[in-house]
This record gives sequence, structure tokens and C-alpha cells, in this order.
Amino acid sequence: MSIPVICPNGHKLKVKDSFSGKIGLCPTCKARVQVPQLPEEALSEDAIMSFLGPGPEEDAKKRWADNDLASAADDLWAQRRAAPKKSCHNCHSEISAAIHICPHCHTYIAELSDF
Ligand SMILES: [Zn+2]
Ligand SMILES: [Zn+2]
Repeated sequence: MSIPVICPNGHKLKVKDSFSGKIGLCPTCKARVQVPQLPEEALSEDAIMSFLGPGPEEDAKKRWADNDLASAADDLWAQRRAAPKKSCHNCHSEISAAIHICPHCHTYIAELSDF
């Protein structure tokens, strides 16, 4: 018993059918939204939402945000793996694991310091 409505700025909303033919405010951008009048048979019982509540797109946005966070963490992890660090056993400076001669004290550093 709800009507899908798209606000002038493209937000997808669902409103109670009792608002059909009336004007509401978009909860996202506060734009005035004309609620269309729908024929009875287009209304479905399982899609009831509060008047002008967030539509399904809000959940999708949240999932995208989560994915962004996850991929950002992946990037960070990839960077760390791409540039591993080890410390010089002579002067204890932190240097790239790819370097075998310490740039600080010019000591040759063996791979075993990776552990
Ligand atoms: Zn809107
Ligand atoms: Zn050193």
C-alpha cells in the first residue's frame, strides 16, 4: 500500500497511498514532491513504508560506502606489502626491506632481519 515516488532531485521515495495526489517533502533534500495517483491494482501490501521515508537506494548507498572503506583498507594493506620495512641491526634505523645496504650507516643487511 505504498507509492514509489521520485523527487525532483532523483531521490527514490515510497509514500503511503493515502498521500496519493498530494504534495510531500523529500526527507533528503526537502524538495516538494508531487505524489502521483496510482490505480488500486498497482499497490502492493509488502512495500509499506512510513511517509517519505528513505527508499531502498539509501541501503545501497550504505553498502557502497562500506565497500569504499573495505577497498581503502585493501589499498593500505597492499601498500604495506609493497613497501615492507625492516630495521638496521647496526644503527636500528627503519629502512625499506628491499634495501640491502643501510643508507644511514652503510652496513650490509642480510635477509634474516626480515624476521
Ligand atoms: Zn530529494
Ligand atoms: Zn644502519
